[in-house]
Order: sequence, then C-alpha cells, then structure tokens
Amino acid sequence: MPELRKDPIVQRWVIIATERAKRPMDFPPPDETPTSKGCPFCEGNEKMTPPEIFAVRKDGTPRDGPDWTVRVVPNKFPALRIEGDLGKVGLGIYDRMNGIGAHEVIIETTKHEEKLELQSVDSLFKVFNTYKLRLIDLKRDERFRYILIFKNDGKTAGASLSHPHSQLIATPVTPKRIREELLGAQHYYEYKDRCIFCDIIREEALQKERIVYENGGFIAFCPFASRFPFEIWIIPKRHDPDYDSIENDEIFAFADMMKTTVAKLSKALSHPHYNYVLHTGPVRWPRRGYWTTIDSDFHWHIEIIPRLTNVAGFEWGTGFYINPTVPEEAAGYLQETLV
Ligand SMILES: [Zn+2]
Ligand SMILES: [Zn+2]
Ligand SMILES: [Zn+2]
Repeated sequence: MPELRKDPIVQRWVIIATERAKRPMDFPPPDETPTSKGCPFCEGNEKMTPPEIFAVRKDGTPRDGPDWTVRVVPNKFPALRIEGDLGKVGLGIYDRMNGIGAHEVIIETTKHEEKLELQSVDSLFKVFNTYKLRLIDLKRDERFRYILIFKNDGKTAGASLSHPHSQLIATPVTPKRIREELLGAQHYYEYKDRCIFCDIIREEALQKERIVYENGGFIAFCPFASRFPFEIWIIPKRHDPDYDSIENDEIFAFADMMKTTVAKLSKALSHPHYNYVLHTGPVRWPRRGYWTTIDSDFHWHIEIIPRLTNVAGFEWGTGFYINPTVPEEAAGYLQETLV
C-alpha cells in the first residue's frame, strides 16, 4: 500500500510509493567522463576566472596566482549583479526590482578529480570555514535578505564544470522555499514552545530507523517525509539558527559528517549526481516585524538530494512528490554502507 506522509515543518505531503520500491541497484549510475582540459578552476588557470574575492593561499603568494587551497571568485555568468540599487517599483498589480545580488563560486580544491568525499577532513575544514567567512562578509550588505550556499555535483544536478565547487547566491528577497520553512518552524514554536529541528533530532534518535550517520556534533538521517529517494538531512545537535556562528571544532565535526555521508551515497549508488543546499537563518537587518523570533525557532541544516529520479508533471503541478524508496530502507542501505 502506498503511503502519504506529511513533512512537519512545511506541511508538504509526499507519496511513498512502496509498491514500486527501488533499491540502490535499481538506479542506473550516471555516465560521465570528467575532463580537466581547459578547466578554469584548476590550479595554474587562475587567469581564466574573474579576479578572486577571497582565497586560502600560501603566505605571500599573489592574488590570482597558484598556491591556494580554496578560492572564491565571482560567477562568470552571474544570475544577479552586485552593483547598483534595488529600484523597487510597482507596475499596476505587478512588482519589479533590479537584479541585484551576489553570485560567487567557491572552488573547493586545486585538484580536478578530488571529489568532496576524497578530500581530507583538514581540507574540507578550509572549505566549510570559507562558507562561514563569506556569509559573515555578505551579511553586512543591507540590500541582501538571504544568502544561499549550494552545490551542484554532476551534469544531472546542473553542474557545467566537473571540478569540485560550490556556489553562493545572495538575494534581495527571501526565497519562497526558505520563507515556507521559516514560517513553518515559527508556527511550530508558537504552538509547542520548542524548536522543531531540535524535536526532530530527539525523535530520530528515539526511533533510530532513519539515521544514516552520527558523530559528536551532527546527525544525518533520511527525513520521514523524504521527497526524493535517498534524500538526507544533516542537522547540528547544538541549536543555532545561523551557520556563520559555527565554531572551529564544530567545523571539523561537520567536515567529517559531510565526507562520510557523501562517501556513503557515492558508494551505495555508484557516484550519483547530487545537490546540497545549506539552509541557514536569513539576514536580519531590522525591518518591521521581520523574523524577530529566528534565534529560538530556526535551526540551520543541510539538505542533500541525489538526482536519481526526474521531477515530472505531477510534481510541477502540485508541489507534491512521489518517492519510490521508503526512507527507512534508504537509511538502512546507507547506514550499512561502510566507508
Ligand atoms: Zn579543474
Ligand atoms: Zn533547534
Ligand atoms: Zn531546509
């Protein structure tokens, strides 16, 4: 019998299609022959990107030269532009504003083939610390309301270059998905006087059916109402709305968590293409009634979505998802996959 499950945060229903349940081997591995030829993100090709915004590099080496470990550059084809003001106007019932924002690329390693799961925890520390520093820097810009950090890994996940990188987009409005999540968490808190993410951590630890991996600081699990097969959420055990207040020891635990989780996915499903998104608290420049309760009701986290199925008409038309893999079974496969 197929099952309907409801996400407790955004109240989204999903269909868990148990009758055509898919196991890891039922998803064909993606075909990809990564090429490093003419890659603008490889060490030595720094002149092929716009000038760097930030880099972790060897002391005394010049900007836009080799000898770095993490490098942040503006996106060459930005979705939004950094210069200018918002120019908000109404056109009858419609609203428009200028496409102001930041669009940056975080190049995670000098080595083309060094996927996230192959990097050391020490190198990943530098990547995830860079996320923190970029968030702190961009949050000072009063034009921005939200900063999303995400990763597209592989063609099916939207990556045009196979060199390991993530991206950051700062927007002058709160994105719809984020808003739904913030409001859902706020309503839950108003009702129960507890953070829903802290409650989810407690519940998952209790039920133990959906846990993928756990370390001192973080828990990874397949959410109860997973939209996609092998969807994974990673939540820090310490309540904090904002990623940018993460401490050094927590970044190490986070690096271990990401490396292990992605390695498990990669091994269990033969290197699937995937996306992850970092959901952190919004920028909180004082505005009337704007997210004043975030400190208690929101809790940052990462959502990882392996791209194993296509989003089709039903999903587009309804916002409802059909997931062919039972989350408990997905978690079981991943937990048993040793890396
Ligand atoms: Zn490269
Ligand atoms: Zn919490
Ligand atoms: Zn989220």
